[in-house]
Amino acid sequence: MIVFDKVTKIYSDGTVALDGTSLIIEPKEFVSIVGHSGAGKTTLVKMLLSEEKPTSGKIFFESIDVNKLKKGEIHHYRRRIGTVFQDFKLLSNKTVYENISFAMEMAGRYDEEISADVPHVLDLVNLSNKAYNFPHELSGGEKQRVAIARAIVNQPDIIVADEPTGNLDPINTHEIIQILKKVNDLGTTVILTTHNKGVIDSLGKRVITMEKGKVVRDDKSGRYSM
Ligand code: ADP
Repeated sequence: MIVFDKVTKIYSDGTVALDGTSLIIEPKEFVSIVGHSGAGKTTLVKMLLSEEKPTSGKIFFESIDVNKLKKGEIHHYRRRIGTVFQDFKLLSNKTVYENISFAMEMAGRYDEEISADVPHVLDLVNLSNKAYNFPHELSGGEKQRVAIARAIVNQPDIIVADEPTGNLDPINTHEIIQILKKVNDLGTTVILTTHNKGVIDSLGKRVITMEKGKVVRDDKSGRYSM
């Protein structure tokens, strides 16, 4: 379970990005966080990843008090959260296969596990035929599928996808959302931030709407109503 308990974030220039935000995300949920640009979605994600500290309030992941993690523990903690971003963040000098295997190497996984698991996740994102291509040889949708494969290969508890379809056309957007749904069906919590109304309406999952750093709606099977 993830808990945000009255979290406020005021950046050093005085901007109030989160204003007493409280929410609970249960294991295996698929939650979309929507809201206009500047609403605080990315700040929320950064807090969960322990990339920013709250000005006040607490964030828990299971029994972990995220802000009390020591420097040496943060690395291990972040491995439990797979991340996917709008700009893919692939390594341009590595093939699709290597982008994924590298993430496993960094997590200290054995060669046998790597050679077993990489083909498996490539199959899951329908990219087995592109294993030896480089990122510049892929479409945007394909790049994002590599990023998802890399995010899930170390079997995190949570996938955080921050505007993953921001650079994609409607067909690729649909495909990425279907893959995230599949990942969720396999038991991973998914937190998706998006502006895209079509994405939200087709999902039929929980939608949290943010405005000026506050949760203004929380619908069990929501639609985007801004
Ligand atoms: P969203 O992801 O919903 O677009 P953000 O969390 O990125 O919202 O931003 C929330 C508010 O915090 C915005 O007003 C933004 O300008 C501000 N903000 C974000 N990051 C910083 C920062 N590092 N320093 C100062 N202000 C920031």
